[in-house]
Amino acid sequence: MAAAHALLLARTVAATRSRGSTVARAARSFSALPAAAPAAAGGVSDEAFGALKATLLEFMHERIYPNEVEFLKQCHAQGKGTSEWTHPPLIIDLMREAKAAGLWNLFLPADTAALVGGKYGGGLTNLQYADLCEIMGTSVHAEFAAQATNCTSPDTGNMETIARFGSEEQKRRWLDPLLAGEIRSCFAMTEPDVASSDATNVSVDIRGDGDDYVVNGRKWWITGAGSLHCKVMILMGKTDVDAPPHAQQSMLLVPMDAPGIRLVRPLTVFGDDDAPKGHMEMVFEDLRVPKDSVLWEPGKGFEIAQRRLGPGRIHHCMRAIGQCERALSLMCARAESRVAFGKPLAARDGVLEDVARARGDIDAARHLVREAAHLMDAKGNTDAHTRQLLSIVKALVPATLQRIADQAMQLHGAAGLCADTPLVHIFAAARILRIADGPDAVHWRKAGQMEFKQQRSSRLAPLGLYTPPRDANEPHFRYTTDAVSPAKQAELDAFEALMRE
Ligand SMILES: Cc1cc2nc3c(=O)[nH]c(=O)nc-3n(C[C@H](O)[C@H](O)[C@H](O)COP(=O)(O)OP(=O)(O)OC[C@H]3O[C@@H](n4cnc5c(N)ncnc54)[C@H](O)[C@@H]3O)c2cc1C
Repeated sequence: MAAAHALLLARTVAATRSRGSTVARAARSFSALPAAAPAAAGGVSDEAFGALKATLLEFMHERIYPNEVEFLKQCHAQGKGTSEWTHPPLIIDLMREAKAAGLWNLFLPADTAALVGGKYGGGLTNLQYADLCEIMGTSVHAEFAAQATNCTSPDTGNMETIARFGSEEQKRRWLDPLLAGEIRSCFAMTEPDVASSDATNVSVDIRGDGDDYVVNGRKWWITGAGSLHCKVMILMGKTDVDAPPHAQQSMLLVPMDAPGIRLVRPLTVFGDDDAPKGHMEMVFEDLRVPKDSVLWEPGKGFEIAQRRLGPGRIHHCMRAIGQCERALSLMCARAESRVAFGKPLAARDGVLEDVARARGDIDAARHLVREAAHLMDAKGNTDAHTRQLLSIVKALVPATLQRIADQAMQLHGAAGLCADTPLVHIFAAARILRIADGPDAVHWRKAGQMEFKQQRSSRLAPLGLYTPPRDANEPHFRYTTDAVSPAKQAELDAFEALMRE
């Protein structure tokens, strides 16, 4: 399989050299991006990476951007009046094409791929993937290209989780078909009745009964569960309410066709049911699964959740940078083509400043995302610095995207508010991310707590508080009992007399 992958890459290099102007143009437009991966962190060679990137750019220009409207149309058609949602035909075609072109499972980092025999994924580092994921993120819908290339959420996080914590049998049963794109998955943590941004609150009841677990409770906002392609769910609940708070939870791999799962309704976000993936409310009524469905071991649910949040979710940030680029591109095109009060909008100082600030914000955000990806490669996602930066980018990048999308909408006037431009989608995606990927406040809280911890052992910590000198010889301005000079006293007396009049 590894040899087949190398062959595919070699073919891609050759194909790229003979390819026409679209790819060359597209490659130039991304050439300002910094180099991808340090050789020490693994990953593929610069040449192979360049070839892969050129193939992806061609795919985006030839197959993704021209089909964006059709993709949304086919998705919306799925949502109407049926409870049997499946992939739109367009996605099926694109999945086959992407797979054949080697644009498949690129998200799976080289170190995780090694855990499953090195036969899957593109052999990329997280840093290399950041570059490609950003390019995929320039599509509208933000996960259109990701869906075509088997790099979509929540499957990417789920696949990494199973690769890292699953038994050999669990990997055979669920990971192999997920990596093949044969099935899709969902991740069920959030519950309507508890503040689910705090994973210790999760309260679905998982009770041992002989060789089985019996599950009862309710979840909501479970993305992907609306699709008939979704065959497995990672379910988080409590197996031991008497254990310490972080050891009460477990994760189970639950077949979606197990009796006892009721899909109540797809929730809508800004009026959209996001078919065919959907965000489902679901109820478990005496759902029974064998005990060997547990991931890793009972009581490890909280720890798995913590570790899953790193790789599974930085992808949203990588894609969000792509969405920022798309919004800025639309903003500039609009400003150059629209004339108001005798001048193109692009000639107005306020617009120039907005555009320049957006460029600065995007580049700063990209830098942080790349640094986080690099730290994941170099130190792993349990490292304190990595985790802090992951929290920071998760809070900062969606907010940056929301701001830039908002400015782009404003420049488009009324057109920016309707579905004639992709800006409504981009704006909504940013707003959603600020909760769906964990609320901003929770990411800032985590990053702040870690900052205080790091500050205590920092190089500057011994300097302590800055205090002005307070020794016995410190100078003094005056004592309040010092005699006032005659001239000043006369001035004071005159003023007070004036006020008494
Ligand atoms: C489109 C979409 C898709 C989703 N997909 C999934 C999915 O696939 N699987 C899944 O399990 N969940 C999913 N979710 C749910 C999402 O992860 C949760 O909504 C999120 O974690 C917040 O949990 P909560 O809604 O219970 O909010 P709560 O935990 O009740 O928090 C509410 C608000 O309180 C504030 N807050 C909370 N803690 C603090 C704090 N420490 N300091 C200051 N303020 C704080 C924040 O403003 C927060 O937004 C999805 C959500 C959306 C919108």
